[in-house]
Amino acid sequence: MKEIIVQKFGGTSVADIEKIKNVAKAIIREKNFGHDVVVVVSAMGHTTDYLVKMAHEITEKPSSREMDMLLSTGEGVSIALLAMALQAQGCPAVSMNAIQVGIMTEKVHSKARIIDIKTDKIKRHLERGEVVVVAGFQGVTEDLEITTLGRGGSDTSAVALAGALSAKRCDIYTDVEGVYTTDPRIVPNASRLGEISYGEMLELARVGANVLHPRAVETAKQYNVPIRVRSTFKLDNPGTLILGVDNMELHRPVTGVASDLSQLRIVVCDVKDNPGTAAILFNGLAIANISVDMIIQSYARKDLNTNDIAFTIDKSDKEQTLRILEKVKAQLDFSNVHVDDKIAKISIVGAGMIDRPGIAAMMFKTLADLDINIKMISTSEIKISCIVAEDKAKEAVEALHKVFNLDCDEIAEVKGDLPDV
Ligand code: ADP
Ligand code: ASP
Ligand code: MG
Repeated sequence: MKEIIVQKFGGTSVADIEKIKNVAKAIIREKNFGHDVVVVVSAMGHTTDYLVKMAHEITEKPSSREMDMLLSTGEGVSIALLAMALQAQGCPAVSMNAIQVGIMTEKVHSKARIIDIKTDKIKRHLERGEVVVVAGFQGVTEDLEITTLGRGGSDTSAVALAGALSAKRCDIYTDVEGVYTTDPRIVPNASRLGEISYGEMLELARVGANVLHPRAVETAKQYNVPIRVRSTFKLDNPGTLILGVDNMELHRPVTGVASDLSQLRIVVCDVKDNPGTAAILFNGLAIANISVDMIIQSYARKDLNTNDIAFTIDKSDKEQTLRILEKVKAQLDFSNVHVDDKIAKISIVGAGMIDRPGIAAMMFKTLADLDINIKMISTSEIKISCIVAEDKAKEAVEALHKVFNLDCDEIAEVKGDLPDV
């Protein structure tokens, strides 16, 4: 049997009919290299945003089941059109949705996790010499309910399929030429990284580098799937290879800078300083499937026996979080809740910062020199994040990118061609 390559094309790559025809050419090119090809495709252009908008024109709070039913239709359109484009160019192809493939997920709407992927049907089509075009983003539960994997989730569909099929590689085709030291659309001086480890990419994706869905990187790490991020429009360019090797540029403490404007900060003021307070608060959020990112509890004021608990959540979870806080108010006896939705999370990521003191201090000084106030800080082994005012995000990213020597000319040495894997 031939080696399998999974190719994933994002929304911008299939935004119109001409682009779909072009994508078909990129698929046939890969097949002509002697591979079996499985393609995962997203909805065309801004289709998913448009579907979300229509739902909200009907009701402020659409049911999550119907939302998944609606959003999954976007990918249904692109798989059929892409399969037709392949057939029209003489390449046998078949489209399959998540039910037909058997992309099994847990029973959670809007952010379901994949549990299992059946591969028998796909393999039968491959044996017949067909390209299999699979709908990204969607899944199905045991009792045939349609689910979706969360915005940007087609990357995860592709990597999970590559893992299940033991593919040689998963190629993520997009509208930029690879993974850069920061978003190249915000900082034109950003540099393309030749390679990056799963660990660093996972942190970057989690803190806002939306070139890859974080769960796609998690899945790639778990199943050891090499990912190559590359341009749909410049097929000969090498892109960025993501694999297990840790940062080979350890002389550089920081590999990338990212900003995330999707969160807001909630401060619960004057909470009684008793054991169990945080448990009640965050348990309520956990039951509602609301992810909390940063948490800071202030020093308790002995005279009042109270403190403040601040945390960040996704903006889309705001209303539900406020409702939950209202429910636990009597138990926690806090005075009021303050919502700050004009924030940005700015992060630096790099395996090279391990055991290197002074990186956090340099980040804070860079922000201080720009008179940017830090509202919250969190760190992990290879990441430092600061919450700042939303309107300072661009300035902060540009300055950090420069201070940590990531501007184009300074990291030219990592721009070499990639080995094939
Ligand atoms: P697709 O539709 O192909 O899934 P996305 O819009 O989800 O594309 O992801 C590609 C976008 O990710 C780029 O256009 C770029 O603006 C953004 N991006 C953010 N951070 C980075 C980064 N570090 N490197 C490359 N692209 C990035
Ligand atoms: N179409 C979905 C979205 O826009 C999934 C994806 O593009 O990855 O979020
Ligand atoms: Mg994407």
